[in-house]
Amino acid sequence: MAFDARHVYYDGKVQQSHGDVFRTIDPSTGNTLADIHSANPTDVDVAIFSASKAFPSWSSTPPMARSRILLKAVSLLRERNDEIAKLETSDTGKPFSETSTVDVVTGADVVEYFAGLVAGGGLNGETIQLREDAWVYTKKEPLGVCAGIGAWNYPIQIALWKSAPCLAAGNTMVYKPSEVTPLHAQVLAEIYTEAGLPPGVFNVVYGAGDVGGYLTSHPRIAKVSFTGQVATGKKVAGSAAGNMKYVTMELGGKSPIIVLPDADIENAVDGAMMANFFSTGQVCTNGTRVFVPEPMKSAFEQKLLEKMQYIRAGNLSNAETNFGPLVSRMHYEKVMGYISHGIKVDKAKLLYGGLEKPEGLPEDLTNGYWVRPTIFTDCTDSMKIIKEEIFGPVLNILTYKNIEEAVERANNTELGLAAGVFGRDLNMAHKVVSRLEAGITWINTWGESPAEMSVGGWKQSGVGVENGRRGIEAWVRNKSTLVDMSDTIQTVFAKL
Ligand code: NDP
Repeated sequence: MAFDARHVYYDGKVQQSHGDVFRTIDPSTGNTLADIHSANPTDVDVAIFSASKAFPSWSSTPPMARSRILLKAVSLLRERNDEIAKLETSDTGKPFSETSTVDVVTGADVVEYFAGLVAGGGLNGETIQLREDAWVYTKKEPLGVCAGIGAWNYPIQIALWKSAPCLAAGNTMVYKPSEVTPLHAQVLAEIYTEAGLPPGVFNVVYGAGDVGGYLTSHPRIAKVSFTGQVATGKKVAGSAAGNMKYVTMELGGKSPIIVLPDADIENAVDGAMMANFFSTGQVCTNGTRVFVPEPMKSAFEQKLLEKMQYIRAGNLSNAETNFGPLVSRMHYEKVMGYISHGIKVDKAKLLYGGLEKPEGLPEDLTNGYWVRPTIFTDCTDSMKIIKEEIFGPVLNILTYKNIEEAVERANNTELGLAAGVFGRDLNMAHKVVSRLEAGITWINTWGESPAEMSVGGWKQSGVGVENGRRGIEAWVRNKSTLVDMSDTIQTVFAKL
């Protein structure tokens, strides 16, 4: 095996797991990477107990001291960037050119951001002077033991986006990675321990949905931060609501891009390609519905076709490779099913790609889960490929007659994760973006999600936000105290 077997991690070290064993696979070749030992319910109970024991001391550690430990973890993450990126490339199938420049980097940035925020007074409450001799003060108190549940597309980044604000705010965490990409979790736990995080503050359990379900519905869990599909999110949020747990839900999308009539076509094409083919289209914010003005359609398609040759599938460790396979056989079949449906049932016009593997793949990669980047055009709103999240490299072109109509059609979905506008007239771009029903929006760019920017979906795409100043609020509860120094108690029960 290329990697050591994985077991549950609690009390600051790897411990024996007692559940079933499954395997994680390199999606570029189909080869097995490691045995992963699932947690059984007792293992999950013990990990939660470890997190509960650690909570009183960690939550009362001054924010500045917590921050120092997190900053040490940031240094370790950056020192080990390439090693972790290689591991993520093996597990996810994303090219090293991507994992080495995005995944660990953007995760470490978020840890640094929240470490800085809490050290700089980000957990301070307010003081409200009511009268000369009475005031209210508020405190931001940590919640307790929190559960983090990750999706498979940005494994270590998701783990860091969840654990950074959670731990900075004084909570402890039990984290479950996706069973499809679990390798990063132990590395992260070890880095936190090496940085000085006390045992029990960050713990890991492995397993499929049943382990996630057991963890998130556990009575000792105060909050669930979940990233995944809408259907799973609804189940998890439903069980959490029944127990009055706090939740953050980062779910799927079917995001629109509106190319305005005055847009620079080259920029809009570059943006649309980044919005659909980066990470082989396995990004929640993918801009899969590209609305182009009717008169621009042919120029847009021509420029797009010119640039498709710059998508390079191949050996994932080669610096020039910028396109990998899909993450698993199951996901490959799902995406191929959508492409096939687009061709045969929706009858959209296939402009590029289709059901074959990318051309020129080396012999040793032919068993991997490779698909061709695909473009459909002349799409209509009622097609299945336009309505449902594909989560693969499938760009769909729709044309529009006027902006009013484009906005209305862009919003005609139950999802509301992201949206974007390309255009030279910034007044118009702002007006259009302000009418798009999505929590994450971009003008003349796509996909950047820096630590400072709060991100979260609207409608069925989620609840709450991650990152930015607002991100910390999801990990604390408010406590208000009213103090009266008048030495008299206001009472209605006085003698008449
Ligand atoms: P899933 O919903 O299938 O799984 C997400 C996580 O939930 C996995 O760890 C999974 O475990 C776990 N899980 C499954 N069932 C349960 C359950 N009953 N209770 C608790 N946990 C459970 O999503 P995917 O992994 O397929 O991720 C892709 C989806 O994630 C896409 O829809 C994408 O849009 C979305 N996403 C959203 C992001 C955002 O920020 N809005 C960012 C990234 C992705 P296991 O894998 O072991 O089954």
